[in-house]
Amino acid sequence: MNNPLVHDYVRDTIDLKKANMPESIYILDATLTEGEQTSGVVFSSDEKLEMARKLAEAGVDAAYVGFPAVSKEEKSTTKRIIGEGLGFESWGLCRVLKEDIDELIDVDCDMASFIAPASRLHYQKRLKTNLDDYLIRLEELTTYTLEHGIGVSLGLEDASRAEMDDVKKIAKIGEDKEKVNLLITDTVGTFTPASARYFIDELRKFWSKPIALHFHDDFGMATANTLTAVESGQGEYYFYVTVNGIGERCGAASLEETCTALKVLYGYDIKFDLTKLMELSKLVEKYSSIPVIPPKAIVGLNAFTHETGPHVHGILIDPLTYERIPIDTLARKRRFVFGKHTGASLIKKVLEDRGIQVDKESLEIILQKVKEKHEKKDAAWKIENNKIIENYHQSVEKRFTLENEVVEIAKKVLKL
Ligand SMILES: [Zn+2]
Repeated sequence: MNNPLVHDYVRDTIDLKKANMPESIYILDATLTEGEQTSGVVFSSDEKLEMARKLAEAGVDAAYVGFPAVSKEEKSTTKRIIGEGLGFESWGLCRVLKEDIDELIDVDCDMASFIAPASRLHYQKRLKTNLDDYLIRLEELTTYTLEHGIGVSLGLEDASRAEMDDVKKIAKIGEDKEKVNLLITDTVGTFTPASARYFIDELRKFWSKPIALHFHDDFGMATANTLTAVESGQGEYYFYVTVNGIGERCGAASLEETCTALKVLYGYDIKFDLTKLMELSKLVEKYSSIPVIPPKAIVGLNAFTHETGPHVHGILIDPLTYERIPIDTLARKRRFVFGKHTGASLIKKVLEDRGIQVDKESLEIILQKVKEKHEKKDAAWKIENNKIIENYHQSVEKRFTLENEVVEIAKKVLKL
């Protein structure tokens, strides 16, 4: 940001520390897979196709298009999206099983994203295997996939709790092979920005090819952790994101926050078109039926809404005083609302814009009346709105299929 009146410490972290910016950052969207893994969410085939088209239009570099081994319906949708030739690199999910990979070969996707547990907790306890056997299996399946012309993303599940030595051994599988990248998953969202950065730096000591970062938001740090890669050096990265940050449990790094921070805070050039973010957010809100909260970064209703007197006063002089993101970059509209915190300057401006002159005394009376109106109105509004919130939470519960319903289904099938 070139403005002599504000100091830019983000630029300092790049310039003064002489941090190397990555050669390439690719936006890898996972809304169609991770997003659908949000508890209760199911997207129809048409909905997925529409979201995929919108993602392509906005300029994502790569996107997960499906997990074809899950069901016939999922496979046909995956095939349908790939068949559209939307221009992004298509990634598909598979477990480290030959039959899962065969499904990906069938739908002809560009990249097979292995779900390959990397922490001892996962591969020893959950998969009940030892590292030597596991490495043999991974190597065989990697070679098999590549032989079929599909790239491999060695998706290290729970990598953030894996021994670096084990990660190094798994990475060795892809070392001398073309079209292989490493995908680091912070499955339970345990990284902090400093530890994510440390992990990436350690990884870069033995892995120079692309790294994909798939970070979860259990502590609310997914986006921040992902962005640490910007400062951690050369090489190529895929940033795994979802629209509105939806995903398993507390979700993943959000597309809108990641892309906007990259362009606006870091000045990093990505081809993604930020003006498409609101449309994408609304579309995913509609198809996931998960509302975006008003104070949500970038796409929330309140992101460019101002009420407090000094803020409005500042904005009227220079929007940079209370808005860090140039509003045009997101194609959003600024809004002033009136209430308890309104200051006289906005009321004066609104009246003057309409040719109404007002003296100081009358202005003060008008201001008091505006504040009173808001306080009175708000009490009634709160009662009504709290009912809506309560109904919404009850309605969310209805979305899940619960234990009792499964037992009922089973009883019918078993004729009990
Ligand atoms: Zn995930």
